Amino acid sequence: MGDCVFCDIVNGRIPSIRVYEDADFIALMDINPLTPGHLLIITRDHYGATLDVPDHILAKALPLAKKIAEAVLLGVGSPAFNILINNGPEAGQAVSHWHLHVVPRQNPQELPLPGGAPADLTKLPFTAAAIRENL
Ligand code: 5GP
Ligand code: ZN
Repeated sequence: MGDCVFCDIVNGRIPSIRVYEDADFIALMDINPLTPGHLLIITRDHYGATLDVPDHILAKALPLAKKIAEAVLLGVGSPAFNILINNGPEAGQAVSHWHLHVVPRQNPQELPLPGGAPADLTKLPFTAAAIRENL
């Protein structure tokens, strides 16, 4: 895939600090960490976002994230972590090659994640129905 920074990392054209690799994934340290120990699990093959990734690859991703997260928590001494996958630029995906963030956390205030607002209960059933129709 031309012009993809993560394909360049997979192929070794761009250096990376790796903690794990297998036939499907590479786990590497994020170059702009949100917290110390923030790393990325990226697919070896180029897929844009989660809807593009074959199910048999996705099925391996969460067990791997669990294994990596356990090591991250022990390695950096954090009690908690976020798993984050951005899908599409509107959702904050800057690199269009599938990746999962493991972000170790020390406290709930260190990242500016906004809370939600109470749902409008007159609209919520219709939103649910619109989703259900597409399943
Ligand atoms: P996104 O916003 O697409 O979900 O996250 C992309 C992530 O990739 C960001 O956290 C960013 O810091 C990281 N990143 C971008 N370019 C590089 C790079 O060349 N090397 C590494 N290790 N991480 C990168
Ligand atoms: Zn790529």
